[in-house]
Amino acid sequence: MNNDNKLTDLKNYSLTEIQEYIKNLGDQPFRGKQIFNWIFENYADDFDELTNIPISLRDKLKDVAKLRSLKLLSKSSSSSTATVKYLLETDDGKKIESVIIPEKERRTLCISTQVGCPLDCKFCATGLMGYTRNLTVAEILDQYLITSKEVLPNTITNIVFMGMGEPLLNYAATEKVLKILLQDLGNKIGRTRITVSTAGIPKKIIELADSGLRVKLALSLHSCFDEIRDKIMPINLKYNLQENIDALKHYSRKTKTKIMFEYTMLKGINDREEDLDALKKLCSQLPSKVNIIPFNSIAHMVNGGFSSTLEPTPFDEVKRFYERLISKDIFVALRNTQGDDIAAACGQLAIKEN
Ligand code: SAH
Repeated sequence: MNNDNKLTDLKNYSLTEIQEYIKNLGDQPFRGKQIFNWIFENYADDFDELTNIPISLRDKLKDVAKLRSLKLLSKSSSSSTATVKYLLETDDGKKIESVIIPEKERRTLCISTQVGCPLDCKFCATGLMGYTRNLTVAEILDQYLITSKEVLPNTITNIVFMGMGEPLLNYAATEKVLKILLQDLGNKIGRTRITVSTAGIPKKIIELADSGLRVKLALSLHSCFDEIRDKIMPINLKYNLQENIDALKHYSRKTKTKIMFEYTMLKGINDREEDLDALKKLCSQLPSKVNIIPFNSIAHMVNGGFSSTLEPTPFDEVKRFYERLISKDIFVALRNTQGDDIAAACGQLAIKEN
């Protein structure tokens, strides 16, 4: 626990709100833009770095505000890939993770939106941690700023909301982060390079569609059958596939983007002949692409229960499944597992002591 907890992180505010805040402190609003630039262009984390801001204003700010809500605790690098996992701590002592995944001409940042996750998907390590709380706007943005400062500055090209938590259950913060990134920051990372991933919260999919932000949206699909989805993703009992597909059709129409279906291959559960046919039928309903993800084992984290029965589809069968989808004229990609040796691959993010 830390006293910084009582201070307001200025990154919870949009640019206009920071300007308003500075005005209320009795100073000129243009200082707000200067401060915003220090935060987002120079990754400043201490008011003393803000050399073009008068010392009197810096002193005033130090009493009421802060520029960091997360502390970098450690970094682990994968030996087999260039993936790096960042362990970060909030001011109230919660731990979260972010991952940087370098690929050929991209450097993708995978960020968390919650401490833990309430959804309890049976194949996901984060689900096993349970849920603690939503992250604030500042805590979500800090993941971007801290990792940006760590890697070569300004080289993060893509952001995926695929870390811990369900972004659409922390909707207000997620939407505000997207607005700050896309509108205030002036498209440094464009909307086509940002993907929000959801397990399927139809009302919020519609809200995001109507927000005008037009980022890419991914649905963690994993099965086209409700009875299977009910078992592996309990959220499906509340919002079934058809409700999600209807919302996704609206999303795709409104934003003119393709929906990405994430599909983690689970042996005997979603890798059968009827799964290929069902995927074909689903994809013919809306502009979409399937992203095949090899299942990253979480067996080391579970003792018994349904989760411990889940096994990856062997990789040669994953490849065959992928090729069969191509032959059915479905847009499909096969994602390489990145960073499973440091538990930074999809669904492996979990903090034991939280
Ligand atoms: N809550 C959001 C975002 C977090 S999960 C969502 O559900 O989409 C990010 C992606 O990793 C999702 O597609 C999720 O289904 C997938 N995933 C989770 N556990 C996995 C595992 N053990 N192996 C492979 N992918 C996994």
